[in-house]
Amino acid sequence: MQSKHKIQEWNFKQLLISEIKKKGGWVNSHVHADRAFTITPKKLGIYQKYALEQKWDIVDEVKKNASVDEYYRRISHAIELMISQGVTAVGSFIDVDPVCEDRAIKGALKARGKYKKHIKIKYINQVLKGVIHPKARKWFDIASEYVDIIGGLPRRDERDYGKGKEHLNILLSTAKRKKKMVHVHVDQFNIAQDKETELLCDKTKEHGMEGKVVAIHCISLAAHPIQYRKKIYQKMKKTRMMVISCPTAWIDSKRNEVLQPFHNSLTPIDEMIPEGIPVALGTDNIADYMVPFCDGDMWSELRLLTVGSRYTNFKQLVNIATVNGIKVLGI
Ligand SMILES: [Zn+2]
Repeated sequence: MQSKHKIQEWNFKQLLISEIKKKGGWVNSHVHADRAFTITPKKLGIYQKYALEQKWDIVDEVKKNASVDEYYRRISHAIELMISQGVTAVGSFIDVDPVCEDRAIKGALKARGKYKKHIKIKYINQVLKGVIHPKARKWFDIASEYVDIIGGLPRRDERDYGKGKEHLNILLSTAKRKKKMVHVHVDQFNIAQDKETELLCDKTKEHGMEGKVVAIHCISLAAHPIQYRKKIYQKMKKTRMMVISCPTAWIDSKRNEVLQPFHNSLTPIDEMIPEGIPVALGTDNIADYMVPFCDGDMWSELRLLTVGSRYTNFKQLVNIATVNGIKVLGI
């Protein structure tokens, strides 16, 4: 119905999206396209019942029998969803591990060839099974040849072997040798025991990889007191660390009774950006066991980040959605 009321209505969505187009279009800096669209109504119970760490193995059920062609179709569908929104570059983690072996990355490479005229795609290996177990290490070594960027998940090896540090050593030394960037999932659980962003900074310095490392999430950083957060921002600046925020992915952080500084379960971008730390945007998992209700919509992610962080600097928001993504993907 056409409204007869003469009021001026500001449409922030239109304003931001027109600026995003001028800056070259959306960049989705972090997604897991190989597992996109694997959730079904029957499987929603798994999402509700299990923690992320258990799902690292539960998702084996959608990986173990998936063929190269199935991966190709799933990844192609996710890429088309990005192109339809005006996304011009995407960085996708792809599982390469003892369960799916190299089938997902083979499907992914085929999909990249098909869409190369429409979108720039960078692939990063996901190490859901870690890099310490010999079988997992074997697939990490194979993957490091195929991918553009080396991917990490130190929590996996910390939980299984108490070897989160060694996990990062393997990632960073491999990336250095192969002259590749590194993207690492850190501080995901929104608890003050997590100090993975700090560990990633220390390891980046130790391996001389300053400016080559990107931290994904950094949610738990916000659960620490201000003095600690400030200390870490200095470390991030010194190591030229960059960050990818995926707002929907962790907004479902579980209720608990632990007292900690009040914050929404989001990357603390309102503190990072004034410090000069580059922040980019990702959808993370789309419609899978981890994040069943993410529909891969870039505007939804940017709006949640804006509102949840009470952050309204338009210029910076446009950078988050565009040029910072180009930077973190090394394009
Ligand atoms: Zn992820």
